[in-house]
Amino acid sequence: ASTWANVKEGPPDAILGITEAFKKDSFGEKINLGVGAYRDNQGKPYVLPSVRAAEEKVVTSKLDKEYAGITGVPSFTKAAALLAYGPDSKPLKEDRIAITQSISGTGALRIGGAFLQRFYPGAKAIYIPTPSWANHKAVFSDSGLEVKQYKYYNKDTIGLDFHGMISDLKAAPTGSIVLLHACAHNPTGIDPTPEQWQQISQVVKEKEHYPFFDMAYQGFASGDTDKDAYPIRLFVEQGHSLVLSQSFAKNMGLYGERVGAFSIVCDSAEEKKRVDSQIKILVRPLYSNPPVHGARIASEILNDSSLNKQWLGEVKGMADRIIEMRALLKKNLEDLGSKHNWDHITNQIGMFAYTGLKPEQMDTLAKEHSVYATKDGRISVAGITTGNVKRLAESIYKVTG
Ligand code: PMP
Repeated sequence: ASTWANVKEGPPDAILGITEAFKKDSFGEKINLGVGAYRDNQGKPYVLPSVRAAEEKVVTSKLDKEYAGITGVPSFTKAAALLAYGPDSKPLKEDRIAITQSISGTGALRIGGAFLQRFYPGAKAIYIPTPSWANHKAVFSDSGLEVKQYKYYNKDTIGLDFHGMISDLKAAPTGSIVLLHACAHNPTGIDPTPEQWQQISQVVKEKEHYPFFDMAYQGFASGDTDKDAYPIRLFVEQGHSLVLSQSFAKNMGLYGERVGAFSIVCDSAEEKKRVDSQIKILVRPLYSNPPVHGARIASEILNDSSLNKQWLGEVKGMADRIIEMRALLKKNLEDLGSKHNWDHITNQIGMFAYTGLKPEQMDTLAKEHSVYATKDGRISVAGITTGNVKRLAESIYKVTG
């Protein structure tokens, strides 16, 4: 028999399946709301002008193609930490944040999973919200952590199940690792309010849990990078030790360049030194060192004050377009006379709207209306345009009655 006779075919990736079905559809007005990437109002991928300008600078400076160090391009990681933790961050000033460049957000989560698996003194288990980004479970279980869940979504209110979340965090064994989406929770688009974050911080502290923040959308949610970093800065201020995964896929549109960072807030500069040495030992056999091109682009944007200003405006532009499309979708549904309450569409934030539509309704949307999105009712608001919102609303109206 062949060596691989025992390899069974696995299920295809849920999102890629949608893209396939969308491509096969010959209807001219088909709509793809599956992809988690920003589109402009013409439905086209968008390269930020600040990214084009930064790339131009990188190319004309004719840098060599030597390896970066194991932890990446230092001018990038330094600026990434500043962007996340803020200029007033105590641990940053005290030089006690260990940071490494990563293969975007996914790679940061994976390094974090591996580091915790190797060194976390408590139970090697991580609690993720129900639901969470579809890849979290696989990333952490492949890192050797046991994956458990806490309540997050209330399907009756299509909002946050705050009580469920708090009681699950209280019920988890003392010293548990807890994954928290910093902003623009994927897939629900539902974030805790600042007051709720304060309560979450308190419970995490009381229970001596260890927070793992995933920040894949800084700036992309509200349009303001400081506002979106609120929970991280709050937790740091409250004296939590934490780890953080950052992605520049969405806020800089650097998807395929794979630019991210993973950081650990340590107790002292001396501890940081030890932690940093172990991050290097961990990364070296994984991929040796990260790619430089995207990190150089991000570094230009973060460090050049005029490019930085331009970029902040462009991030806000993307966030604002999404916020506008949410309002427009809701208005179109109401104008059609829909009796359902669609407030959640505008209450939610970030790339995705969690519509509350059932899997059967999502099937009908695809089969009868050529509107494609994941079965859980999540739609990518980035795929909505002023040109397709009316037809989208009509389709949703028809399947929801
Ligand atoms: N975390 C969350 C919550 C995400 O939504 C994403 C992207 N969809 C990621 C991490 C990682 O994405 P990337 O590896 O492209 O940065």
